Amino acid sequence: MSILELKDLRISYASSEGRLPAVRGVDLHVDRGEVLGLAGESGCGKSTIAASVLRLLPKDAEIDGEVLLDGEDVLTMGWTRLRAVRWSKASIIFQGAMHGLNPVKRVGDQIAQAILIHDESASKESAARQARELIEQVKLPARRARAYPHELSGGQKQRIMIAMALACGPELVIADEPTTALDVMVQAQILDLLKGLQSELGLATLFITHDLSVLTEVADRIAVMYAGKIVEEGPAKQVFDKPKHPYTRALGSAFPEIGDWSYRMSPVGLAGDPPHPNDIPSGCAFHPRCPVATAECADHEPRLESVGPARSASCLLLEPVQNGQMA
Ligand code: SF4
Repeated sequence: MSILELKDLRISYASSEGRLPAVRGVDLHVDRGEVLGLAGESGCGKSTIAASVLRLLPKDAEIDGEVLLDGEDVLTMGWTRLRAVRWSKASIIFQGAMHGLNPVKRVGDQIAQAILIHDESASKESAARQARELIEQVKLPARRARAYPHELSGGQKQRIMIAMALACGPELVIADEPTTALDVMVQAQILDLLKGLQSELGLATLFITHDLSVLTEVADRIAVMYAGKIVEEGPAKQVFDKPKHPYTRALGSAFPEIGDWSYRMSPVGLAGDPPHPNDIPSGCAFHPRCPVATAECADHEPRLESVGPARSASCLLLEPVQNGQMA
């Protein structure tokens, strides 16, 4: 059984213009021990999905569908059960979360506090010991437990946030743009750390980023979102090397390869912006920006269909296939 399964997930927010759809019918699963990368531009609904898994959405959010965490629907569980599954079943590392550390508390105490809140049998001493062990697990010296946040670099603070996410032994970690606020060298170190922890602990991970190239480093499978829907899904290497959907192709080509000097001469990118949720184009939502759109694309909305073994995509130009056949 998958550790996380989203079924026909639909989320909208209240606004002065009426309800704004952020997620428009998403089906997705993360298997145990697997890293699923969720990619897409800002505003496509990735972070809304992340927050929905632990029911962290603001009060004005309306949510339909199912969010099954280890088979239990998070959306219908009572508060006591929800508190029990947060951190112990699934935890989340938010974008820029390192800025959320309490500046007047030692980082070791902050990790220990999370342990004490979620494990009533833990003593202060055992929680402090576990906090030091977690700090070593994220490759910092245990003595850094006594540091205050301002004494740590950005990368060290992000390691502390990762240690905190692991504090209660979750089976699933949701990492929402965990490297975006860091410089390139530190990004690479944090990605290495996450990869190492994932294989050492057998964690399932939902890794969210706008940077498709990051996902080729860490993900087993990739799902690409556009305007609140999944438009392509499949094994990471195949999706990156041979994207089926024009949007995935555009996302991939926006990042230069090291040594690819042609990029300097003719930068590749995607014109225009993602649609505002109150003005989602008719037919295929991507059609105003799609370089290969046809007249039909403005009238017909493509469905996410199988386009090869373990691969699916939603584009009118792709021939759906029966599972097992080649597209
Ligand atoms: Fe482009 Fe049309 Fe395919 Fe949409 S359906 S991705 S607009 S070709």
